[in-house]
Amino acid sequence: MIAATDKFLRLLFISSPVGPLGSGMGGGVELTLYNIAQEMLRRGHSLKIVATQGSVLGTLPIVEIAGELQTSAQTQTRNDPIFIPGNSVLANMWDYARQVQADYDLIVNFAYDWLPFYLTPFFTCPIAHLVSMGSLTEAMDGIIEGVATQFPGTIGVHSRAQAATFAFGDRCRCLGNAIDLSLYEFCDQPGSWLAWVGRIAPEKGLEDAVAAVEMTGIPLKILGKIQDKSYWESICADYPNAPIEYVGFLPTVELQAELRQCRALLMTPRWVEAFGNVAIEALACGVPAIAYRRGGPAEIIQDGKTGFLVEPDSVTGLVEAIGRLDKIDRFACRQQAEAEYSLWALGDRIEEWFWGILN
Ligand code: UDP
Repeated sequence: MIAATDKFLRLLFISSPVGPLGSGMGGGVELTLYNIAQEMLRRGHSLKIVATQGSVLGTLPIVEIAGELQTSAQTQTRNDPIFIPGNSVLANMWDYARQVQADYDLIVNFAYDWLPFYLTPFFTCPIAHLVSMGSLTEAMDGIIEGVATQFPGTIGVHSRAQAATFAFGDRCRCLGNAIDLSLYEFCDQPGSWLAWVGRIAPEKGLEDAVAAVEMTGIPLKILGKIQDKSYWESICADYPNAPIEYVGFLPTVELQAELRQCRALLMTPRWVEAFGNVAIEALACGVPAIAYRRGGPAEIIQDGKTGFLVEPDSVTGLVEAIGRLDKIDRFACRQQAEAEYSLWALGDRIEEWFWGILN
């Protein structure tokens, strides 16, 4: 056990095994890990990040691990078994962690995968699990619940809606999320276009945003990693006349430079979004968010003040909200981001969570 007088922790962060950091394949986990790491370092803690080979995360110290990538959990159906490929990067990362665990006070798991939860009782170093998605499969629910029972307080989540997807949601610690606000510039005079930002994959429901701009004629800029190519091609084929432009997957500084010039962000997830980093990135730029009333975005957006919450899966609801955008004061969006989503505030919650686990 760590003495309460030991102010600084030695932390080992273990990233997602679905792709290298910086590639966009890990979705919001990449930015979340980066932000928490930066904030912990700023507070004087020491840390190392274990991530798949090819990872780049600014100047942060990364141990790169080779091996076969894990497929994303969101492509699985409820009763799918656990799948681990030969020479698994996930297994290799945790093998590394096992070997070095004596050098650390706490391991922080960022992967939504079965193995780290299964291995938890076999480690001598305590493990905090930051769960980045809601309930997806029976196998994952079972193994996370086992850890929540055996190691109370070690399961962190990003929103109450995410926690509520699990039968053991009341035993999860809700940590929210945050961004480095200094990287996002406020823009008062946007262009006429709208934005859609995220991984291009079925659970993100991009087609609804495209359908909405086809109805309104307002151009839509699309930013993010094309994770599912056939899904993207089918949207392009289904809406040949929609006024859309695919901008690409951009690093944060370039992303915000595009995003801040947009009139609004459209968020159209089909699933219960655990949080929705892109919502707070938009708000930080003064960009209101229009989102379906489900999951994390429904806890972030102040309906009528910093965006609009729309009936889930309703394209006409999106269109109607787009028509009311002149009611939103963009400065109120930036103000909400500053008041609620600073890295400083998240750092306090994360540190408290870590100390709770250690003591
Ligand atoms: N993102 C990015 N560049 C882009 C588009 C998106 O870096 O061009 C990042 C964005 O900053 C956010 C993440 O992709 O952190 C998407 O995360 P979100 O929580 O919205 O959804 P997830 O992918 O985790 O489901």
